[in-house]
Amino acid sequence: MARDPPDAPSSLPQYLSEGVPKQDDQTLRDLQTWIDELLKYRHDIAAEEIETAEGETVTDVDESGGTTSVIKKVPCGKDACSTCPHGPYRYEVHREGDKLVWDYKGPVEAQD
Ligand SMILES: [Zn+2]
Repeated sequence: MARDPPDAPSSLPQYLSEGVPKQDDQTLRDLQTWIDELLKYRHDIAAEEIETAEGETVTDVDESGGTTSVIKKVPCGKDACSTCPHGPYRYEVHREGDKLVWDYKGPVEAQD
């Protein structure tokens, strides 16, 4: 009895789950390499690409571990605040299209 091919992930759009199995081995390997490069491009943000808003202070950029973490202090925007900027807070930055998206990950213990 012939074996069934592996099921496509249910998250995959139909044009991929139908189109990808029709490709030959070399095209699938090229696709695999390209997907790895795309993921790296999205999640590996160079420190030079990090832009901050006025009043923000970046204290650390960690590019290890396949993701880019940024530690920064941010102002709250209140006129009468004497403790601005606040933080430091940790963010994970990734790329969507040509934009950087910041995911807030919480406060960071101050280090000496
Ligand atoms: Zn403040």
